[in-house]
Amino acid sequence: MIDISYEIGGKKINPNNLKDALERAVVAAVTDGIKKKIKSTRCLDHNGSARIKVKGRSLSDLSMEVSGCCNSFIEKVKKELS
Ligand SMILES: [Zn+2]
Repeated sequence: MIDISYEIGGKKINPNNLKDALERAVVAAVTDGIKKKIKSTRCLDHNGSARIKVKGRSLSDLSMEVSGCCNSFIEKVKKELS
C-alpha cells in the first residue's frame, strides 16, 4: 500500500470529504496516476512502505514529496513517479 496524503493551501484535505465534484475528480485522477506509476510499494531491504504527500497552493499547482524508510527506496519511488 502506498500512503497518499494531500495538503492544499497549507491545509490537509481528505479526498473523500471534498464537496466540490471537480476537485474530487482531480484528486482521484492524481491518486490513480500515482498508483499506476509506482510499482515498488515496499522497500526490499526494510519492508517499509512509501508515503507520498501531494501539496500545492491549489489543485492546479501540485508537487509531490516522497518519504520512506531509506534514501535508496525514496529515489526508486521518485524515479517511478517521474
Ligand atoms: Zn528501506
